[in-house]
Amino acid sequence: MRKRAGLVVLVVALAGVQESVAETMRVTINKTRLYQGDVLKIQVIKKSTAPFIVNFLNREYKSFQLGKDQTVLLGIHYQLKPGTYSLTGAYEAGPNFFLPIYYRITVKERFKPKKYFPPKRPPEVQREIQARTDEFQTVFDKGDLKPLFSEKFSWPLRKIYIPSDGDFGDDRCAGRRIKKVHCRYHTGTDFRAAFDEQRSKPEKVFAINFGRVVKRGYYPNTGNVLVIDHGAGIFSGYLHLSRFLVKEGDLVKRKQIIAVAGNTGTNSIHLHLFIRMNDGKTTVDPMKFLQLLTK
Ligand SMILES: [Zn+2]
Repeated sequence: MRKRAGLVVLVVALAGVQESVAETMRVTINKTRLYQGDVLKIQVIKKSTAPFIVNFLNREYKSFQLGKDQTVLLGIHYQLKPGTYSLTGAYEAGPNFFLPIYYRITVKERFKPKKYFPPKRPPEVQREIQARTDEFQTVFDKGDLKPLFSEKFSWPLRKIYIPSDGDFGDDRCAGRRIKKVHCRYHTGTDFRAAFDEQRSKPEKVFAINFGRVVKRGYYPNTGNVLVIDHGAGIFSGYLHLSRFLVKEGDLVKRKQIIAVAGNTGTNSIHLHLFIRMNDGKTTVDPMKFLQLLTK
């Protein structure tokens, strides 16, 4: 609090001298009222490459060069408690001249908290599932802090069509749908991935941006899965693939063909895409992410 007050005073004191700098510089945010699962983009619009840092929910985010502007990308977890939160920071516009960054971010409810009771399984089966889930999570623990991309994102398929039950946040229920207690949120977007008449010919899958392949594996529920670390805490995951065309450790380019879609771990050919942000800790709505960042 004391630090922020200091910065404000500094800006006032130097505003007269540095007016020309201030005029050519602007901090922008894509929105301040948003929903759970949404994505925030904070930019300093200026012909400068100096990075800046913002704080949100006790976490620091360092900006990086995205296109022409220094940018911070951060995700609003789809289960973050609705409410108003502060986003603070400062941009060093010149020697001893800081432009304070302060926004009140209002998060509205889109996904009510859901209690999930896993279906009754023998303990050894449950343990095995838990062990595989934990192993998968470790992928997000050692992400690249530096961004591996510097331009906008792109779509994962040649054509984009989302079937009516493919949205992020739809109910996904284990076993019979009537057992509501076994339902949880769909934490990705399902894209149709076969466009021939019989819907039997799976499409090629593209990397949505530059990055490194950090996971290539098979899991009972996801089938064949690839995860790409894009750096800056951002990961994309591609599920139900029939063929892998890259391997773990490979650096991939934006729009590079990385796999062929399929129906492994599911019963129809589709691509389930997930997006994790904030060091892989935050699941966001992939459509919100792509609609914002493919422009
Ligand atoms: Zn899905």
